[in-house]
Amino acid sequence: MTAGTAASPPNPPPPRTLNIAAERARTPGSFTGHHFNSAGAALLANGTVEAVIDHLRAESLSGGYEAAKHAAPALEAVYARTAELLGARLEEVALVESATAGWQRAVSALRLRPGDRVLAARSSYVSSALHLLSVERDHGVLVELLPNGPDGAVDLEALEAALRAGPAALVTAAHVPTSSGLVEPVAAIGELARAHGVPFLLDATQSLGQLPVDMGTIGCDLLIGTGRKFLRGPRGTGLLAVRRPLLDRLAPEAPDVRGARWTAERSWELVPDAKRFELWEAAHALRLGLGAALADLSALGVDTVARHLDTLGASLRERLSALPGVHVTDPPAAGGAIVTFVVDGMDASDVQRQLAYRRVHLIAVPAGHGRWDMDHRGLTKVVRASVHVYNDEDDLDALVEAVREIVRLQQRGKAPSPSPEPSPSEPDIPPAFSATDPEPAPTPHPPDISRSFSRRHDAIVVGLGVHGSATLRHLAARGLDVLGLEQFRLGHDLGSSHGETRMIRRAYPHPDWDALVDTAYQAWTELEGASKAQLLDITGGLYAAPDDRPDPLRGPGCRQVGAEEAARIFPGLRLPTGFTAVHDPRAGIIDAQETLRAQLTLAERSGARIEDNSPVLGWEPDGDEVVVRTGEGILRTRRLVLCTGPWTAAQVPSLAPHLTVTRIVNAYFAADPTGPLGPSGLGSFSVDLPQGLLYGFPATDGRGLKAGLDSGPTWTPEAPRPDATAEELALLAEAVAQVLPGAGPVTESLTCLYTMTADRRFVVGEVPGAPQVLVASACSGHGFKFGPAIGEALADLVCGIARPDLDFLSPARLLSGRTP
Ligand SMILES: Cc1cc2nc3c(=O)[nH]c(=O)nc-3n(C[C@H](O)[C@H](O)[C@H](O)COP(=O)(O)OP(=O)(O)OC[C@H]3O[C@@H](n4cnc5c(N)ncnc54)[C@H](O)[C@@H]3O)c2cc1C
Repeated sequence: MTAGTAASPPNPPPPRTLNIAAERARTPGSFTGHHFNSAGAALLANGTVEAVIDHLRAESLSGGYEAAKHAAPALEAVYARTAELLGARLEEVALVESATAGWQRAVSALRLRPGDRVLAARSSYVSSALHLLSVERDHGVLVELLPNGPDGAVDLEALEAALRAGPAALVTAAHVPTSSGLVEPVAAIGELARAHGVPFLLDATQSLGQLPVDMGTIGCDLLIGTGRKFLRGPRGTGLLAVRRPLLDRLAPEAPDVRGARWTAERSWELVPDAKRFELWEAAHALRLGLGAALADLSALGVDTVARHLDTLGASLRERLSALPGVHVTDPPAAGGAIVTFVVDGMDASDVQRQLAYRRVHLIAVPAGHGRWDMDHRGLTKVVRASVHVYNDEDDLDALVEAVREIVRLQQRGKAPSPSPEPSPSEPDIPPAFSATDPEPAPTPHPPDISRSFSRRHDAIVVGLGVHGSATLRHLAARGLDVLGLEQFRLGHDLGSSHGETRMIRRAYPHPDWDALVDTAYQAWTELEGASKAQLLDITGGLYAAPDDRPDPLRGPGCRQVGAEEAARIFPGLRLPTGFTAVHDPRAGIIDAQETLRAQLTLAERSGARIEDNSPVLGWEPDGDEVVVRTGEGILRTRRLVLCTGPWTAAQVPSLAPHLTVTRIVNAYFAADPTGPLGPSGLGSFSVDLPQGLLYGFPATDGRGLKAGLDSGPTWTPEAPRPDATAEELALLAEAVAQVLPGAGPVTESLTCLYTMTADRRFVVGEVPGAPQVLVASACSGHGFKFGPAIGEALADLVCGIARPDLDFLSPARLLSGRTP
């Protein structure tokens, strides 16, 4: 552990340990990828996000000033927490917009004059160096770079010699640089600076939250830091601390109404504390978020966190340096959470990009962000990984395995060519990636590795009908590395999701469905918004059955109507005597093909990989992962999602006895779209007839009226599927003629497959005995309308978010014999 930690009591309690699972549970981002960029901007915990949102909500309800007044005690507490963290007094702490803002105000307040000597460590950050170089050029200040010792840290003897050589105005160092895991001997630097009466400005941007930083122990007079890195606060938060007595001598170059009082026409006075360095206007919501993050850190214990990150960092450093072709670039004096490395023959940005494809998020640091360090060590760019409390062994495995694979592909001459150095004006952020954008969408099937796609995924979705394509889209949108496999070509007509139209309705036989139907409608609205396509045509619906039918459809907003009123609602439909109907004003028609197209397009746009003509031959659980066998080879995944429709029994044999595949015939009947069988006289409908439940849609697109019977022969999905037979069409035409006068002959027909359960409820949830595997099937002829909603639910389940609203569809109910 580094210098600057406090002495331990005589019988110290056993060191506290961290509960990683608990940290991950309150860090939603830890489910969306393997995040190794805390030294860039760490993942926020739920509490921090809620603190920010709560205050923004308060501002929206009562106004910014009023909300700030109400939150004054909480805002004041942020100063107290900051002071506690830094071992500083309350009045010595200022909250600023960023570490660099703190640095600039502190250095300008020093009023450096021509000839003043600034002794700067090579660990100094780019923005600090640029400021010093500009005061050197513009104001004749002398910036002297302190040499490093053999351990890569500041050479303390050289520092002492420089201090003895004459008066210096400032000593400055970064506790931990942006360009390596180096931990500077800050307490020793502080001691030397204090001994020579020279102010010591410590840049603790990369150490706060990962190492103990006590200004008293370190002996620094000025300290800057940011909220977004290891402190896990929101972006746009920073801190500056100035210790007394220096504080009383420093005046900001540009005082603001926050830090000064305008006392007369030409005079003003500064506030006595460090708030003299603040600006009036501030993002209070972000500061309260920082407060929440500081409270979390304090609850965990800085020493506990530091111990954990030091161990995790050391383990990662060791595992990476053991990989062939990988060189850890951290100097001997490294420690803590940051690990930097290079890969033989590869540009660090390409390594970063290749890892991003594998959903391992870290950063490439170019020399332009740490020239005094990297030029000195002959490095042009390094890959920087930084761990935090939400990283578990699984994350480290994912990173190490991904690097191993990239090296293997590189050595096989498969990895892409190096790319040019990014322009210096974009600090710390790789090209084309900003925090607000979703993960940079790799071109689908990036060159070279598209066929031999990486062998390990966060999730693999098997089957790309309406359920699979919806799941793939939601998982990719959450930044998961997800692969979609379809045994046939995309757009095939051998499963259950092909054909132009499907019916959506509110009316359902049992109240258990009501909540899910609501969710389904919301999911369609969301999908239409995301795809900018109109997928639903709300025509209203009539569902008719003999008066004596035991379980008519029902549902919110639906009502029973007699034959007369039904004829007024849909003049094209003529109900047999003794029939009543349920009118569902929210029923309608789904554009099935556009839905599949939209979901697959959105999935690819979010980085999902799609492989059609790629049948999955089988799968086995292996530890907490799943091994998947394909014609291409073996894949591994954290989660497997089976949306295999009629082929589900083959993938989940335990469910086979409970699934029946049925062949269904649909046909188009000649009809005038402008007549009563068109949208003006008909919407989506069903009539329970002796031939079976006839259902259908008005004639719209010149293809005539579409109808089908909701039953058919049991079928084996692997068996070839002949076109509709004359008998099948005759039976259907007979039913159509009974209730849809004016319908002409069959113009075309199609066949399709239902996957049925005895209770006609779906099977959605974990495969019994294999929690890493989810299944969604057994649509029982009415699943399409739920496709987008079930896709989102499956993505939640993959991300560890419980969905109790789907318990009534759990596969386990079939094996336990528990059906309604
Ligand atoms: C004629 C007809 C009319 C319908 N009408 C309606 C309606 O009006 N309203 C409604 O809500 N629902 C309706 N449905 C039901 C609805 O269409 C289905 O519930 C839905 O399409 C099921 O989608 P899925 O993704 O689960 O299955 P599918 O669409 O069958 O997708 C499964 C996919 O998995 C692939 N696959 C299987 N095994 C493997 C493997 N080993 N490797 C790779 N890929 C594999 C298959 O090739 C297939 O593409 C109807 C169904 C039919 C057949």
